This record gives sequence, C-alpha cells and structure tokens, in this order.
Amino acid sequence: MVINSKKSLQETLEIAKKEGNTIGLVPTMGALHEGHLSLINFAYSQCDRVVVSIFVNPTQFNNAADLEKYPRDLSKDAEFLKTHNPETIVFTPEIKEIYSDEVKSESFEFGNFVNFMEGEFRTGHFDGVGSVLKRLFDIVKPDKAFFGEKDYQQLRVVKKLVEITGQPVEIVGCPTSRNKFGLAQSSRNFRLSDSQLKEAELIYEALTRAKKMFSTNSVETIEKEVEQLFQAHPSFELEYFSIVKEKDLIPTKTKESEENYRAFIAAFLGEVRLIDNMALY
Ligand code: AMP
Repeated sequence: MVINSKKSLQETLEIAKKEGNTIGLVPTMGALHEGHLSLINFAYSQCDRVVVSIFVNPTQFNNAADLEKYPRDLSKDAEFLKTHNPETIVFTPEIKEIYSDEVKSESFEFGNFVNFMEGEFRTGHFDGVGSVLKRLFDIVKPDKAFFGEKDYQQLRVVKKLVEITGQPVEIVGCPTSRNKFGLAQSSRNFRLSDSQLKEAELIYEALTRAKKMFSTNSVETIEKEVEQLFQAHPSFELEYFSIVKEKDLIPTKTKESEENYRAFIAAFLGEVRLIDNMALY
C-alpha cells in the first residue's frame, strides 16, 4: 500500500493501532536495496505493521549536486516492496507534506556526536536528519523505529534526538548488511560502474585490516596503514579515517582497555561518496 498524504497515513495507522497492532517505522531515502530489506525484516520481527518512508530529505544534503544526483525511482521501490513485503505501508510524502512552506532545518544540541566525521565534513547534515525524523515520528507515532549501523553516527544521533524531543519511540539499531565481498549495500552504489563496485571493496578491506591490527598496534600505525592503502588506489580520495571511542564518538589516539572502539571511513570513488564503519572488538 503506497500512501503519499499525511492524513491518509494517519487514518490507516489509527485503524491498525485500534486493532491492537504495534507500529514499526523504517525511514529511508529510497533506491531500496538488501540493506533496507534487512531493516524491514528486523522491523517485522518486532512489530505487527511496518511503515517504510521514502523521502529524499533536502535539508540533510550539504551539497546541491549530491542531492540532485541522489538515485530516485519510486515505482521501482514500490515494486521491490511489493515483491518482498507486500504488507508494508509505504509512505512517500511530497516535500510540502513534511516541511509546509519552509524547507529549513531546526538546530539541535547533539553535542560531541556531531563534532566529528559526518558532522564535521557535512555541515548541517545531522540537523537536517533530526528535522525530518522529528516530523516523521510525529506523523507516524511508531512504537519503534529502525536504523542501520551502516550509518552508525546517525544511529547515535537519532537516539540523542528522541532524548531531546522526548518522543515516545524506541530506536533500534540493526547490523550492516554487506554483499559477499563485504561491500556495505548503499543507494549510492547504484551510481557506481561494475568496475567501481569491485574497487569499492577496498573500504571493507581497510576496516577489516584496522580491526585485525587493533589489539597489537597503535592508532597512529593503523591510520598510516589505511592512508597508504588508499594512496595505492588513486581512484579513491579518502576523506577521513577515524578510530573513535564508541561511548562518545570522539576520535582518539590512545587506547584504554575498558573502552570499546570503532573505525569509520568516508571516501570518494569518483564523484560518489561512500561511508562505512566497523566495531573493533
Ligand atoms: P538511506 O536510505 O540510505 O537513508 O538509509 C535508510 C536506512 O537504512 C538507514 O537507517 C540506514 O542506516 C539503513 N541502511 C542503509 N544501508 C544499509 C546497510 N547496508 N545495512 C544496514 N542498514 C542500512
């Protein structure tokens, strides 16, 4: 079922809730793939009805060309969901339904979570993410909302968002879905050629190498190793490689035995910006 107005979505959900169903929300920007599907299946394992929103949110893009080139194919997405999960309620709002006449971000106090990595390199990105999700949570009023660890920093920011807004939704993190070569599925992969898709496996290789090295090497040695790996592949431009404490998402140069750490990468392959991350424990 594809719904594009807030009003009819709320009417549909009202009935489902009255019948005692719990509601799961999976927010997406479309160009659906196996990664999204893993979230949807996770949502079905915990909720009776699942809403998948498809909305390319303009306020979270800091780069106009990136927004313009973001892959969009609503009919293909609808077909994809019909094939895999025909019961899914697909919400495809127009920009006006979400933002009325003012397409603008609110600003949130996300603290340290947005000072580095995506927050540092994509100015205003997380305010845009927070703005759209706050609205989607208000419209759908889900019991739970599902987010991928593929965008781990976003997952943590969303948990912080609901702490700030007090919206009664449980945020559930789901593992990153990868192809058999380790490449994390992403809508941006649709913009890569076959040979670039092969090259993109370098990101996973770098992360797994970092993980293997972590217990016996310094952070600086690992950073050098990863930088060299990317230098040896000039079709890539490494934007950042960071090892951070999982607790606060602040990049670190030291290791403490009682802490958990995670490595993050953002890199351009041609014009396409790819991100990934991995727990180092
Ligand atoms: P997007 O459409 O890229 O905004 O992603 C929508 C949701 O799907 C976000 O919560 C992402 O973290 C999640 N997601 C995207 N790719 C993957 C993946 N490969 N594995 C798990 N979750 C993913």
